[in-house]
Formats: sequence, C-alpha cells, structure tokens
Amino acid sequence: MEKKWDVIIVGAGPAGLQAAITAAQQGLKVVLVEKQRDISRITRSCCQMLIMDNDYQNEGISVKQGKIVFTRNNFEIDYDGPTVDINEKYYLSPRGHKIHFSHQGRQPIGLRYDKGRLLQQLLQQCERLGVEFINSAITRDAHNSPEGISVRFSRGGKEQKLRAKKLIVADGVNSKLAACLGFNQNRTHFTTALCIMTVMEGVKGFEPHTFKNANGLVYGSKRPILMGPTLLGDNTMDLLVSGDTELKPKEIFHYFTTQSPLAYMFEDAEVVETTGCTLKACSTIPVPYKDSALLIGDAAAFVEVQVQGGIMCGYHAGIAIVRELQGKKGFSEYTRWWNDTFEFNSSDFLRVAQGYSLSPTYNDDELDYLFSLTEDEVLEGTLSQYKTPRLMWESILRHQDRIAREKPEIHEKIKALDSMVLA
Ligand SMILES: Cc1cc2nc3c(=O)[nH]c(=O)nc-3n(C[C@H](O)[C@H](O)[C@H](O)COP(=O)(O)OP(=O)(O)OC[C@H]3O[C@@H](n4cnc5c(N)ncnc54)[C@H](O)[C@@H]3O)c2cc1C
Repeated sequence: MEKKWDVIIVGAGPAGLQAAITAAQQGLKVVLVEKQRDISRITRSCCQMLIMDNDYQNEGISVKQGKIVFTRNNFEIDYDGPTVDINEKYYLSPRGHKIHFSHQGRQPIGLRYDKGRLLQQLLQQCERLGVEFINSAITRDAHNSPEGISVRFSRGGKEQKLRAKKLIVADGVNSKLAACLGFNQNRTHFTTALCIMTVMEGVKGFEPHTFKNANGLVYGSKRPILMGPTLLGDNTMDLLVSGDTELKPKEIFHYFTTQSPLAYMFEDAEVVETTGCTLKACSTIPVPYKDSALLIGDAAAFVEVQVQGGIMCGYHAGIAIVRELQGKKGFSEYTRWWNDTFEFNSSDFLRVAQGYSLSPTYNDDELDYLFSLTEDEVLEGTLSQYKTPRLMWESILRHQDRIAREKPEIHEKIKALDSMVLA
C-alpha cells in the first residue's frame, strides 16, 4: 500500500535537511528526496564560511561545544567538525591598495568550517528522528493542489511517485521545481555566472586567517576574485573565480595564477581539488508558496541565502508546515519572516547593489585611487555581502570633496551611482 506522508521535502541541502528535522521533531511523517548519493561530498562550489556578524539576517550565531547556536531564532544544530577563524578581510585594488575590515579585538568575522560534515550531521539527526531519506533520486516534476501534492522522481532508471499533504521545495538556486510549479513566471533573470573553486596547496605569502577579494581587470576578471583559508593548513587557499560563457572561469584562473600581480603566490602551488557551479541570478520570490507547496532557501532567493540562512529557512518552514496542518496560516507567517529576514527581499536592494558595484564600473586606475583614500582606516569587521559595500562606500564618500577636486570624472560617476545608494 502507498505510504501517506505529511510532507515531502525535495533537496537535502542545509534548508531541506533542517526543514525535515523541525517537521519530524513535531511528529510529522517526513520523506526527503535528494539527487546526490552522498551529500557529505561537496561537489558544488561553496566557500564554507560562517558569517559571524552579530546582526546578519537578524541573527547572531555562535559556535561552541559541538553546536551552532541560532541565538535569536532559538534553536541549535550539531557541528563537531573543525573550524578556522577568519579575523581580517581585505579588498585589494589592482596595484594592491587595501581596504581593511577587522574588529578592534580581532574576534572572528567568519569561520571556515567543513560543510560536508555539517550536512552529514544534519542527516544523522534526520535519521534519528525517523525521516525517510531517498538519495540518488532526481525529482522531475510535481502536481500541486490545495488538497495535496504528488512528486515524480527517477531513481536507478525507474520512475516513482510520492504523495503527501504538503511539499517543501529546497532544491537550490537553479530550482527545477520552482519552474515547473510556475513560481518563475514573474522573475527577472539578471545574469548567469560560471564559477570554479580551487583548493591550492603550496601557496606563497597568503596570510592565514584572512579573506581577500581582488578587484580590477588586472587580475583577469570582471568580477572579484576571492581568496580564503582552507582547513588544510597555512600554505593552502580556497580560490574562487567567476566568469561567463565569453570569459570562462578556467581562463580567468589560468591568467590569475600565472600573469596577474598575485601570480608569484602560485609559482610552486598545486591544485588539490576543484569544484564548479552555475549561478543563475534571478529576482527573489516575495510570496514563496502556492496551494500546498512552500519554496525555501536558494530555490526562492536572489542567488544565495547562505548556509546559515538556509538552515533558518528550514527551521521556519518546518514550523510553517505544522501550523498549516493545524489549519493555521503557517505559509503566510513564513512569508512575513522570509521578507523581514533577507536583505535581497527589500524593494531597493537591486538599486543599491548596482550603486555599490566596483569593477567594471570603475577602471583599474580609478579603483586604485578610490581604495588609496581609505587605506589608513580599519573598517568594522564584517563578512556580510550587504554591510561590506555600505561601510566601504561610507568611508570613500567621506573624501567626496577631495575626489571632486582631484578626479572630477570619478566624482561624476560616483554622483550618478551614489544617488541610487543614498536615494
Ligand atoms: C561559489 C559559492 C560560494 C558560496 N560560499 C558560501 C559561504 O562561504 N558561506 C555560506 O554560508 N554560503 C555560501 N554559499 C551559498 C550556499 O552554498 C547556499 O546559499 C546554500 O547552500 C543554500 O542552501 P539550500 O539548501 O537552499 O540549497 P543547496 O545547498 O543548493 O541544496 C539543494 C539540494 O537539492 C538537491 N537537488 C537539486 N535538484 C534536485 C532534484 N531535481 N531532485 C532532488 N534533489 C535535488 C541538490 O543536490 C542539493 O543537495 C556559496 C555559494 C556559491 C555558489
């Protein structure tokens, strides 16, 4: 006889796993469908950093005694894997001028951690709670109605179907189910980036415990190149480059490590591991539910909720499902939380993001000039992709009169873009 599920969850990333835990803790019958065989093997690029800002996504997480604690959302998860503190962040200009972010007491702005271990521990918790986990299963489509859900997936060459009262879609940034359930109809597709992330060993002169972001065409890319610590020791580095179909990430990687001003760091370096991903940036889904289906995590987001945001989505989605099944308005409560928590859901997010952009808006000489203005300052420590440009531009704009006097052409550009930021 066909088993009756309360909820089907598609995608065992941070969002789907935590949703399964929360729903199962409340006594629901949960089935979790995932296309990977082994979720602890990270095959999709991820920098694996926890953002330790105390006001990020209305939360300030702490990591202690084998737990990651979500202090304001009032829940915790297991994590007994290693961590490496990230205490300093630098934005580098083409000639190496630095914008420096750090806390006065040098407390960590981020932690490099082992995402594979984190996912594995979430899955173990699911299993302890009796969640049925179906791996190596690719979800094809779903039928959604107010009365319930059916989901079709293929596994080992066989088509199978599941039915449940509710569905949580947590299949990530390029969500197939979002498209097939009609959630993408009013979304704008902004850009598609192709990324590769490489773990390098034998790197020279990379300061441990730092995160660096190289800006300018001199580095071979129109987008920033990111460098961060790994868990493998001080002479290793995670290197993330992103390109597109015209300028491929492989070409950027080659140029950056052999011809850019930082090529010397890689003279004796070796590639330990490479992962890749395609990132489709689409406008967010402000109302991420319809009938019996709720979309969570990256599946509904403008690019990324981040791992900690995904876990929070899962936690609130689990509660939402329970409340829906009790006849309450769980989905609309989730929607309120979703809109209040993630900065990309605010109406002026895109305008502001555009106003903050560095390369290629400013050419390499202009970037050098702008970065040199703030070099004597240490800005507040942050790993937030939203707070960082705000702090940086606040600092640069304190020199507006000087810029107008010395570089009127840069000032004109700033004025045009600044009106977006300050409007
Ligand atoms: C280059 C890069 C660097 C990043 N760095 C960081 C970082 O340092 N820190 C941080 O917190 N976040 C980082 N992120 C973001 C982070 O990885 C995501 O925001 C987070 O993993 C989203 O969680 P999720 O559960 O919504 O989706 P995902 O983690 O994408 O999980 C989706 C799951 O669904 C499965 N799936 C997909 N399609 C199907 C299907 N058809 N059938 C069944 N299963 C399916 C996938 O296999 C996957 O397991 C980074 C992302 C990228 C691309």
